[in-house]
Amino acid sequence: MIPSRTCPTCEFPSDEADLFFAENIKPEKISGFSFASRKLPEYMCHRMVLCPVCDLVYADTPPAEDALAESYHAASYDSSEEADDAAKAYILAIQGVLDRLTGRDGALEIGTGTGVFLKHLEEAGFTKLVGVEPSRAAIDAATPECRKWIREGMFNEHDFEPESFDLICCFMTMEHVRDPMEIAKSALRLLRPGGVFLTVTHDYRSPVNRFLGKRSPIVDIEHLQIFSERAISGLLTRAGFLEVSAQRFVNRYSLRYWTRLSPLPAGIKTFLGDCFGKPVLSRIRLGINVGNTLACAYKRR
Ligand SMILES: [Zn+2]
Repeated sequence: MIPSRTCPTCEFPSDEADLFFAENIKPEKISGFSFASRKLPEYMCHRMVLCPVCDLVYADTPPAEDALAESYHAASYDSSEEADDAAKAYILAIQGVLDRLTGRDGALEIGTGTGVFLKHLEEAGFTKLVGVEPSRAAIDAATPECRKWIREGMFNEHDFEPESFDLICCFMTMEHVRDPMEIAKSALRLLRPGGVFLTVTHDYRSPVNRFLGKRSPIVDIEHLQIFSERAISGLLTRAGFLEVSAQRFVNRYSLRYWTRLSPLPAGIKTFLGDCFGKPVLSRIRLGINVGNTLACAYKRR
């Protein structure tokens, strides 16, 4: 029996939290792609509860740390094109933050995948780039240029010098870690004064996710918590950051990938996916606000 945890943000007891999603895991459906990024949605999830204090939705009995590490290490990977599109959307969304940042010496990305976002940071003038990624298959899919920045494994604060980064990013990863508060506190200690921590998280309160309900891609066995704008802002503020802000931004992906994410029946998805994979259509990118939140949090100067 896995022991239950209190709210990972505010420690309010889980037995006083409301049920949000009942557990829905079919062991026979778990595959190498279950722990891969940007996979075909499986709509499986752990039992999730909603914290009435901080608005976080979280699995009250998540898998143990070592089981998670093994799942991510062994996960398959087939989404380099989508990773490239996501990295372009992120760099565009954080332009204002980068303009304000005085130092560009040291940037860390937790959950870097193929490291493609680090390439954008290099072009923006950042030095001493490093990305942490547990999935061997994602690292294998990285270009040699990006691979040199990637450290394989789960993120461990003690692998880095305190106050050695001006920027730390954690995109679409805060949902996946056992202890998101510990990640935020580690980021605070690793940042230089005035440095910034950026996260991208799903928003379960966004209209599209509320509309899709249990057919939303946020219903995912990989997710140990799901945020709202208030939940991610609250976590970063409790961790000790200042000037915390959270806002939605637009993702741009191919028509084929949007089809993949959609709640359409499998046969229609395959048909449309094949159509949109044709040369002319495959180049089209469609920007949609799917309720992903960019949060920005500064360390005191
Ligand atoms: Zn809470």
